[in-house]
Amino acid sequence: ITTPAPTIFETVESEVRSYCRAWPVVFERASGSRLYDEQGRAYLDFFAGAGSLNYGHNNPVLKTALLEYIERDGITHALDMSTTAKRAFLETFQSTVLQPRGLPYKVMFPGPTGTNAVEAALKLARKVKGREAVVSFTNAFHGMSLGSLSVTGNAFKRAGAGIPLVHATPMPFDNYLGGRVPDFLWFERLLEDQGSGLNHPAAVIVETIQGEGGVNVARAEWLRGLANLCRRRDMLLIVDDVQMGCGRTGDFFSFEEAGIVPDIVTVSKSISGYGLPMALCLFKPELDVWEPGEHNGTFRGNNPAFVTATAALQAYWGDGALRQQTLVHGGRVESALRRLCADHERSGAGYRGRGLVWGIEFTDKQRAEAVCRKAFEHGLLVETSGPEGEVVKLLPPLTLTADELDEGLDLLARSVHETA
Ligand code: PMP
Repeated sequence: ITTPAPTIFETVESEVRSYCRAWPVVFERASGSRLYDEQGRAYLDFFAGAGSLNYGHNNPVLKTALLEYIERDGITHALDMSTTAKRAFLETFQSTVLQPRGLPYKVMFPGPTGTNAVEAALKLARKVKGREAVVSFTNAFHGMSLGSLSVTGNAFKRAGAGIPLVHATPMPFDNYLGGRVPDFLWFERLLEDQGSGLNHPAAVIVETIQGEGGVNVARAEWLRGLANLCRRRDMLLIVDDVQMGCGRTGDFFSFEEAGIVPDIVTVSKSISGYGLPMALCLFKPELDVWEPGEHNGTFRGNNPAFVTATAALQAYWGDGALRQQTLVHGGRVESALRRLCADHERSGAGYRGRGLVWGIEFTDKQRAEAVCRKAFEHGLLVETSGPEGEVVKLLPPLTLTADELDEGLDLLARSVHETA
């Protein structure tokens, strides 16, 4: 359901055309893994705010923390001032996420959105290296601002803005050309070749699994090869973990499985855990080169988001339980999709994914959209992704129960079969 379409508000003149979600109801409230429309009908949410609600809607632990904070007149907005809520977040992030993983990062709050984090990462890399070029990948998605769009590999998103890919060069993502893991020698040759137009890049920006690009999973060996190349060739490695971070793939950071340590990491979406805008740009200490005020923005200090983020880290990342559950649930999804897609004649689909992010690729966008519409009729919310919108993406809350997962997978299978 990605094409601009009239929404239920089409008669309200203020509604713009660029919104793409056209589910024909008005939603009113949400709890856990379900949304409810104003008629009281329930929908199982396998979209989860495009990955912003890894702990479900109105998670009771986070809600209690937020209500208590508001009740005692906690600060809501504080730019980059020091506050107790911010300190608690930084300490908790350190003790539950960074320290146990031996990650050395400094934490920057670049603004409220994933795009803000990506912009900060690109600017920082260019400043540190004193070079402008950045390498990105086919089918990547990094945001809708001019900078982040220039490293986004989606012609439809870029077209209207007419962005020339100045200083940003797209390279083939893993499996784009099929088959074996490359040794990246071709990449090194291009760097050495004065005629290739590839000026020595400051950085390479990559998603470990391309979410908007159609759930394209980079293999661990490919990511390690890329990290080695960056080291050898003095380029900073930026991992954009806006969608795949915060436990989506099982690990807190999606790059952990590959055993790499990026120089810069962007995080947003589920970091606040409650759907409140918040983003992080993490970088190695030696990259902390900005002067005070050189990169800032008004909404960096969303203290209610710090409060829910802290509660989420304490509740879910103090032990390995959520990771374990995500991997077990992921195994359940994989078996269900294997069964669903085994009869390719009937389903017309293939699948891929890890943890609790899965993509089911159909032969065309029309079929994928038909599946989403049918799923909606059955009370399941799923979205399309991929360069042509041909992939149905599953992104349920990580906290969903096994019963909810099975229910969603059943509804999905029915929707696939009924649209065949
Ligand atoms: N990077 C990635 C990998 C994303 O998936 C997204 C959002 N889909 C963004 C950046 C942009 O985040 P935001 O929409 O919060 O600006």
